[in-house]
Amino acid sequence: NKIKGMRGQVSVFEPHFADTNREQLNLEEYLKRAIEEKRFELWYQPIVNAANGRIEEFEALMRLRDEGGDLISPERFIPLLEESGWIMLIEPWLLRAAASAASLLSRRVPGGCCVAVNICGQQLLDNGFIERILRILEETACEPGWISLEVTERQFLENPERVIQVLQALRELGIRVAVDDFGTGYSSLAYVKRLPVEHLKIDREFIRELPHSEPDKAIVRSVGRMCDGLGMRVIAEGVETKEQMQWLYNHRVFLYQGYLFARPAPLESWLSEEALAMVVRPLKEGRDTSSI
Ligand code: C2E
Ligand code: MG
Ligand code: MG
Ligand code: MG
Repeated sequence: NKIKGMRGQVSVFEPHFADTNREQLNLEEYLKRAIEEKRFELWYQPIVNAANGRIEEFEALMRLRDEGGDLISPERFIPLLEESGWIMLIEPWLLRAAASAASLLSRRVPGGCCVAVNICGQQLLDNGFIERILRILEETACEPGWISLEVTERQFLENPERVIQVLQALRELGIRVAVDDFGTGYSSLAYVKRLPVEHLKIDREFIRELPHSEPDKAIVRSVGRMCDGLGMRVIAEGVETKEQMQWLYNHRVFLYQGYLFARPAPLESWLSEEALAMVVRPLKEGRDTSSI
């Protein structure tokens, strides 16, 4: 179960609690207080487009600090928020923060951009979801086209008909949808062919060993071809090296997110022209070396 599953990970509470159950209880208590005190932060990581040299998107990633001020890994606290349903309590703040950021960034980033928000199944399948989003977009002067929603494959399995219906409705409103962590869930090509989504994000797992792993190369190549045929665009997650970028570029994958370009950072970090220019620099350097 989840409690045992979290054991191996580095924990901020470890020095105080040897007992995993107590540690878990403690994290729950900590999250409850963090929700009441509105202490979550939303950070942003750019996604770049090598075809035009621009920032295309920012993914909004939730952050929470422990008592000492260090960041707690989202891999630890997000599953708890989702399983407890508390994610619903954070949603209004999360969507409002992301939409305000999108409203700001889309005007500052040369050529415009959008902000991608991670959404879990409970949110997507909740009856009031679309209305809540629309209200927040209005309140924050955010165009629907400036927001993208990232959903994982797992959610399609639970209630595919309803998910497809909701995604279709979102798309008609002009809100984009991306399949997140593609290839790691319980993928079914039967669903992929029916999904009204614009973007497919290949999980970092398949990018990590490029260009040295033959199986990964074969997988990324065929996902790319599949997306071409389906009219979807591929985003490569976790691009960390120039070699990876070059290989992806040569295989017609042009959208990248990863430490090679930038790590997630608070909104304030993205408000200067210099910071935005730094992000796309590896794209130009990549092009320069490939033309030699
Ligand atoms: P994700 O949606 O797949 O987000 C991408 C993760 O990859 C982020 O981890 C990001 O920091 C990390 N990453 C990006 N580029 C690189 C790279 O080059 N190298 C490496 N090693 N990592 C890279 P993060 O921020 O720790 O988030 C983990 C997961 O937590 C996310 O995975 C997402 O599933 C979930 N999450 C984060 N924020 C939210 C949120 O607001 N709502 C929900 N429901 N889930 C969230
Ligand atoms: Mg994501
Ligand atoms: Mg992802
Ligand atoms: Mg991932």
